[in-house]
Amino acid sequence: MTTEELWKKYKEKQFIISAYELLLNTTYYDSDTIAPVKGRDYRNERMAYIGGEVFDMQTDPEYIALREELAAKEDLDETSREILKWELKDLESFRYIPKDVYVAYNELTMKANVVWKEAKNRNDYKLFEPYLLKIIEMRKDMLQYRHSDLQGYDIYLSDYEPGMTTEKYDQFFDLIREKLVPLIKKISAAPQIDTAFTNLHYPADQQRKLMYRILDYMKFDLEAGVLGETEHPFTSAMSKNDVRVTTHYYEDNILSSIFSVIHEAGHATYNYQIRDDLADTYVFDNISSGMHESQSRLMENYLGRNMAFWDNLYPEAVKLFPEQLKNVDQEAFVKAANASVCSLIRTEADELTYPLHILVRYEIEKGIFNGTVDVNNLEQIWNDKYEEYLGVRPQKASEGILQDVHWSGGSFGYFPTYALGSGYAAQFMAAMRKDIDVEVCMHNNEFQTIKDWLKEHIHQYGGLYLPQKQIEIATGEPFDPNYYVDYLTEKYSKLYGIKE
Ligand code: ZN
Repeated sequence: MTTEELWKKYKEKQFIISAYELLLNTTYYDSDTIAPVKGRDYRNERMAYIGGEVFDMQTDPEYIALREELAAKEDLDETSREILKWELKDLESFRYIPKDVYVAYNELTMKANVVWKEAKNRNDYKLFEPYLLKIIEMRKDMLQYRHSDLQGYDIYLSDYEPGMTTEKYDQFFDLIREKLVPLIKKISAAPQIDTAFTNLHYPADQQRKLMYRILDYMKFDLEAGVLGETEHPFTSAMSKNDVRVTTHYYEDNILSSIFSVIHEAGHATYNYQIRDDLADTYVFDNISSGMHESQSRLMENYLGRNMAFWDNLYPEAVKLFPEQLKNVDQEAFVKAANASVCSLIRTEADELTYPLHILVRYEIEKGIFNGTVDVNNLEQIWNDKYEEYLGVRPQKASEGILQDVHWSGGSFGYFPTYALGSGYAAQFMAAMRKDIDVEVCMHNNEFQTIKDWLKEHIHQYGGLYLPQKQIEIATGEPFDPNYYVDYLTEKYSKLYGIKE
């Protein structure tokens, strides 16, 4: 077949798969937002069926052969070849796993997830432990079905962040351990920032109005996106012109919804600012976890927690909450939004202590795969590391090793991307600051200028490039974690009056 004929066949097949995926994504979004709980089993069974159909189409030997043949065609343009390369690379992570192993693994993780929830509710790690040990055993065992140049844990690290290895992560986390642990100890001993007013009563209806003001300020197009409500905030990108963000309203915490909305809007913006000719391709949403997280955290921490972000918005917040904020000026509000406290729960951690939560998980995962960690003693290892790095020790498993869902689903290698994303974001910000005055843009209500910069240098490409290449395109240099630790050190030393 000619390249043109193959391409046509490929696009037809891809259209069918995308139709099923739209159906699945819409149902997932619906399930997590407004669908009634009692209909869950009916929905899940049918979604599992559709998911199986998609799996079969993706792994159909004929379709794989078609893509391999197409990818080898020399007269195919470079962008299309690059897109196909990504598709085939992602297929490698599951195409050689025997079906019975795949099914057994899915059954195990589905069951483990139920047990994890139960164990977390009862604060009983021992209940979950046998499942976790079995998952670890299976994940190690399944490495034999990978046709990868990498070994062991590196294979899983690279699934979430192509190009990243233990060696590279070690350099990143060594720097974090060396520079941030002493700083956090000094901050813990310094006078603390007043955050009490952020936990007054903030009615959900009023919070909702504030969220729309924030999205409006961020020039978020509500004709191509929506804001929904859920338990754990997430973003779902159906297509370029249909990106859905969600939040959760806690009436005793005004900061939670604000920063989750800004965070999720960061993810959504990455998706909807993709170039038109890439919008309907595989790279629309196959962006690496670290890159995606770099854009949400850039918006949340580097912009949203910046004083200038609030120049236009804070008066609006005061109008919506006149009683709660009556003695709080903009500076006190922004300070409270940046307060750093050593805590036990990763998802509630501030910008400074957050990477230490990830360091704990990274060291444990690495040790599990290279055999230096005793898997029969994981709870104590977890607690010891929290005490060492953050000076706090979990008293119950729900605040310790059972807090996150990831391991119950076998997602080893995912956590490190959260910290890495913040690291990328620091370097992107430094590059952006060379071209535009970020504070002036925000003060002048010109958020679009910031988004245009991100579009030009990052968003337009979607997941077309390896993260390392994308960073070089946007910043002109390879990833350098010093941007991140320098940024945190400078910001927090100033905030807490710490002399270096
Ligand atoms: Zn995120």
